[in-house]
Amino acid sequence: MITGKNYIGEEQSAKSNKTYQTFDPKLNIPTQWTFYEADHEEINAAVEKATKAFDSYSKLPQAERAHFLNTIASEIEALGEQLITVYMLESGMPEGRARGERGRTMGQLKAFAALLMEGSWVEATIDTAQPAREPMPKVDLRKMLLPIGPIAVFGSSNFPLAFSTAGGDTASALAAGCPVIVKSHPMHAGTGELVASAIIKAAQKTGMPDGVFSNLNSSDVEVGQMLTMHPKIKGVGFTGSINGGMALYRLANQRREPIPVFAEMGSINPVVALPEVLEEKSAYWAAQYAGSITMGAGQFCTNPGLIIGIKGAGFTNFITKLSAEIEKIEPTCMLHPNIHEGYERGKQELSKQPNIKEVASFKDTIAPNYAAQKVVTVEAGDFLANPILHREVFGPFSIVVQCTDKEELVKVIDHLEGQLTGTILGTEGEIKNFPEVANAMVNRVGRIIFNGVPTGVEVCPSMMHGGPFPASTDSRFTSVGTSAIKRWVRPVSFQSWPEELLPEALRNSNAQGIMRLVDGEYTDRNI
Ligand code: NAP
Repeated sequence: MITGKNYIGEEQSAKSNKTYQTFDPKLNIPTQWTFYEADHEEINAAVEKATKAFDSYSKLPQAERAHFLNTIASEIEALGEQLITVYMLESGMPEGRARGERGRTMGQLKAFAALLMEGSWVEATIDTAQPAREPMPKVDLRKMLLPIGPIAVFGSSNFPLAFSTAGGDTASALAAGCPVIVKSHPMHAGTGELVASAIIKAAQKTGMPDGVFSNLNSSDVEVGQMLTMHPKIKGVGFTGSINGGMALYRLANQRREPIPVFAEMGSINPVVALPEVLEEKSAYWAAQYAGSITMGAGQFCTNPGLIIGIKGAGFTNFITKLSAEIEKIEPTCMLHPNIHEGYERGKQELSKQPNIKEVASFKDTIAPNYAAQKVVTVEAGDFLANPILHREVFGPFSIVVQCTDKEELVKVIDHLEGQLTGTILGTEGEIKNFPEVANAMVNRVGRIIFNGVPTGVEVCPSMMHGGPFPASTDSRFTSVGTSAIKRWVRPVSFQSWPEELLPEALRNSNAQGIMRLVDGEYTDRNI
């Protein structure tokens, strides 16, 4: 049942008079539920509980945290059809997407549980003492990664499950040993409350300390800002707009004790289409890209917003076919009227820039909050001269940039800001003739793709979902895949520390059998 209340640890609470409703974008009406925004007292209580919970939660054996994560996945599944119905109502997204995202969310939790069961991710490093070393004896030093403390997680609008309440940020922080306070996204607060109830149930069933998880409702920036400024919060995970991410990043850096803000923000995901491949397969790639641009109403951070090529018969053919494919696709509903308004505003602003020409757009009448896709084209010189054209338009919109030669192509890539992804379409032979293009792209992106589409982010250890600013605030870390755990830990060295007081991973006997770097050698043996 959706109550509209906050979870302050295990306790449900609704102290504020400030309320709001979620919205059904398909019917274009508010939903039936009313949510109570968290007040200052509730925010403080959640942080105090999280701080207390950290003491014991951070020290639990990895297997116990793994059991908690697996139980969260089971409890999310146990929410059954209600979760699917509420998700669809609050997001306007179809059933297949709801089920797929639920599966992905459960899969992420289980992947972190498996990481903990294997255990080597803590990077245990042991340099044993050498008392006889000359001229000075060497001390015993043992280092591993330990959790940093309570984390504030900002759910994203476009993934109500997989990047929200129990999404990648929450799963990775809980796996690391950090309690989590979620600032629920106001567009899907009902979905968020249901998932929060599953996490609380799992915490109770597995004997986790009260305060290991809290869920705070809010419909404007105050709750999130207060959480970020709270001296007992030690890190922030965020997915959303550049404005939101940078506002939180700046706040965190103004604190007496600055803390890391891992914000995954905007990206236009450049795609370079080389000439030879377009001569061979322009129809194929046009169909693939029409699908990728419009998938999920374009509401993906990996949406291909920029396609760059060299003028010629192949590229012209590709543009003509892309135009035909784009016009055929039926528009779909966006997440919320605000997202739809933002899309229309961005699309119109970019479309009215000098020398922009339309390639294709959906022109029939559509229902409120549905996104009419559009593709435009521009000469590389005009693109380079106009930074407005480099902005992300969140929705099914893409710009095709036409270059005169290879040099201009490299120049366009060099002028781009940091990106989550970059794609090169080419034959095996021709990509070898464009090393400058590949090099320029690697310098700009977190993930580089050969002959594919950027949409579709696999959750696995080798995934990098992040990139140079403004794609993210810290290009060294990913927010997808098991390496995301590294955002919530810090290395600590124990020098000459009594064996029985060391964390289990650093003791002489390697009880979990993890890989450790012992005196310069990777091994799973006891010392
Ligand atoms: P958003 O506006 O950045 O908001 C995300 C979360 O951050 C919300 O919970 C919001 O709180 C909070 N927030 C925003 N600005 C804040 C501030 N100054 N201080 C404290 N908290 C702040 O993103 P969104 O609501 O998900 O979607 C809006 C736009 O973001 C989209 O149209 C799109 O352009 C972009 N977006 C990008 C991505 C991506 O992956 N790159 C994903 C989703 C959205 P409140 O809502 O309570 O104010």
